[in-house]
Amino acid sequence: MLISLIVPCYNEEESLPILYDALCEVRRSEESDEKVFEFIFVNDGSRDKTADVIRSLAEQDKAVKYVFFSRNFGKEAAMYAGMEKAKGDYVAILDADMQDPPSLIPQMIKDLDSGEYDIVAARRVTRKGEPKIRSFFARAFYKLINRMCDIEIADGARDFRLMRRDVVDSILSLNERQRFSKGIFAWVGFRTKWVEHENVERAAGETKWSFWKLFRYAIDGIVAFTTAPLRLATYMGFFFALLGFIYLVYYFIRAIILQIYNEVPGYPSLLCFLLFIGGLILMCLGILGEYIGRIYIESKARPIYIASEESKD
Ligand code: UDP
Ligand code: MG
Repeated sequence: MLISLIVPCYNEEESLPILYDALCEVRRSEESDEKVFEFIFVNDGSRDKTADVIRSLAEQDKAVKYVFFSRNFGKEAAMYAGMEKAKGDYVAILDADMQDPPSLIPQMIKDLDSGEYDIVAARRVTRKGEPKIRSFFARAFYKLINRMCDIEIADGARDFRLMRRDVVDSILSLNERQRFSKGIFAWVGFRTKWVEHENVERAAGETKWSFWKLFRYAIDGIVAFTTAPLRLATYMGFFFALLGFIYLVYYFIRAIILQIYNEVPGYPSLLCFLLFIGGLILMCLGILGEYIGRIYIESKARPIYIASEESKD
């Protein structure tokens, strides 16, 4: 049986040697006549020496396979490329920075061997070492997306997971361009076991996620997995039309039945309504735009990544 370990790497020259040692440790403890490992490093257009590090690892170690991207396509694309390249019966994805502890892998393999599960996925139960504001928005995001979508995305779920072959094939069959893996993993289903661990800080280098990038990612996730925001526009439209109608009836009664005409020119209220409704219309247009933009990009059907170099099998 072959076990593939996929590592997406973007500017990870410092972390890679540490990670490789940890992976070798796992291999030493687990490899047997029936279990063989392959390591797949996907270099996502790194600007440092990551490519050289990977190449030299591949020279010393036959188990090391790699794909290099022609530019930075993002972690989602890197994971997809890794899964395409992986031949394993079990396939794992883990970060290069040791934040996904490789020491959990032996236990994950045992869990799959037991036959009770198809996926063993990691969840961090603490967010220690992360800025408070970031944790707050992350929690809010999970609440929001789980309310709006039919799928359940676990708070703190990482991309770190070990999967059976058929799970990987199902994930690959979802070949949309704008990939939101947390959602895709949940969407394909299967029997999942969650293993929990504490947050681990990066071994070296720094995170590639700024607050703004995470915010965009959150919007991408919501738009990719639910059309609920579109419905929001309908509800709001209905609500304000109703409000307008009630207002109309009220003035009608005042003027015709109660004969009250001494209305002070309602300039401030008028302005308020105008601004408010104008804002709402713009917001709804924006929501529409998000979806239309998505359709536009998907309709071009570009490849998810472009490889510039690949290890031979
Ligand atoms: N990564 C990638 N492409 C990118 C950004 C990140 O392949 O454009 C990889 C990165 O090398 C690491 C993993 O994705 O192995 C997670 O990235 P990072 O540690 O920066 O994210 P965080 O752990 O802070 O969420
Ligand atoms: Mg990290």
